[in-house]
Amino acid sequence: MRSRLSSEDVQLAEEYLEQFYHLKLSGGSRRKRHTPAMEEKLKEMQQFFGLGDSGLLDPQTLAIMKQARCGIPDVENVSLYPGQPRWKNRTITYRIAKYTSDLTRKEVETAFRLAFKLWSDAAPLKFVRANHGEADIVITFTRKAHGDFFPFDGPKGVLAHAFEPGEDIGGDVHFDDDELWTVGRRQSGYDLFTVAAHELGHSLGLSHSKDPSALMFPKYKFLNSVKYKLSEDDILGIQTLYGKPTKTDDKLLISKKCDPNFSLDAVAVVGEEILFFKNSYLWLRTTWKSYWNKLREGPISKFLPSIISPVDAAYDLPAKGATYIFTGPKYWVVQTLGTKGYYGSIYDYGFPVSLRKIDAAVHINKYNKTYFFTGYEYYRCCSSLQRI
Ligand SMILES: [Zn+2]
Ligand SMILES: [Zn+2]
Repeated sequence: MRSRLSSEDVQLAEEYLEQFYHLKLSGGSRRKRHTPAMEEKLKEMQQFFGLGDSGLLDPQTLAIMKQARCGIPDVENVSLYPGQPRWKNRTITYRIAKYTSDLTRKEVETAFRLAFKLWSDAAPLKFVRANHGEADIVITFTRKAHGDFFPFDGPKGVLAHAFEPGEDIGGDVHFDDDELWTVGRRQSGYDLFTVAAHELGHSLGLSHSKDPSALMFPKYKFLNSVKYKLSEDDILGIQTLYGKPTKTDDKLLISKKCDPNFSLDAVAVVGEEILFFKNSYLWLRTTWKSYWNKLREGPISKFLPSIISPVDAAYDLPAKGATYIFTGPKYWVVQTLGTKGYYGSIYDYGFPVSLRKIDAAVHINKYNKTYFFTGYEYYRCCSSLQRI
């Protein structure tokens, strides 16, 4: 298969590995198909894209190299980005300094507003557009050499690049204006929202992900700006840098409890009361028939003094008269309201340490089994925990 490689293919592979995997070639080693350094970098690239690690420039590897992508390397350049740069302020300003002529100004502004919203929905960040003057993130459409040592390559190939948070050029995003920029899926061209959403991830401090379903995967794949939501991997990345979004105001939440879209975090029985959890708030309804319509409410900490965070899941074991309440990797065992239950770690159950929280839990008396739901999987308990 290698015999079919043209010298252009080898040159393309060399340039690709130089640009995105920091391959260093001396003058003499150019255009040789096999150097140990190139094989090493090929393996690295193949592993990143889940292509095995043959170290050979096979057609599959070459096909990936020819696809449109982000201009940021896939391996960390420690000398460029030491530590984990992130913005210190939670309100971040941006300015579109130079527009593309492919789209109207309004189309460009909408694409960026939606792209920023993805990230502000997932973390406690606020983005404000400035029309002139200084801004943290400066967005420019430009072509070829444009003053930052990372010249663009004309149509296709690299579509855009961005700088990690910092002063001056830090956080800025450059789009290759030799591309055709579009809104929505078109026969040719690239959707601005899709590329902007990815590049802004870099502007906020994220590097490339190996997870092909992540927005931070370096390859271009059209995303619908109306429906698209960040993947778990992207959410985990942005929350590692900035934390979780600020909790909805409980007063506002309570006023919306009759909204048809309202959802609860968890429900469980403690003693004679049914508990309905939402954020740091709780509703109680007694199981005594004569009091059936009496709904009480208040912050969770008022009824369960040890629990201050929102509840992820809860279940009760009537035989033991005990209720198990989960928040993140911790759980509490409560027998009566108003007392401080004791708590342990979900890993005591035997959950893998990669698991950070339980989504839902239920105990089925008939089978005397407890079921835990996490993402697309569920576990059955006990005597020993079984992953299903
Ligand atoms: Zn990128
Ligand atoms: Zn640039």
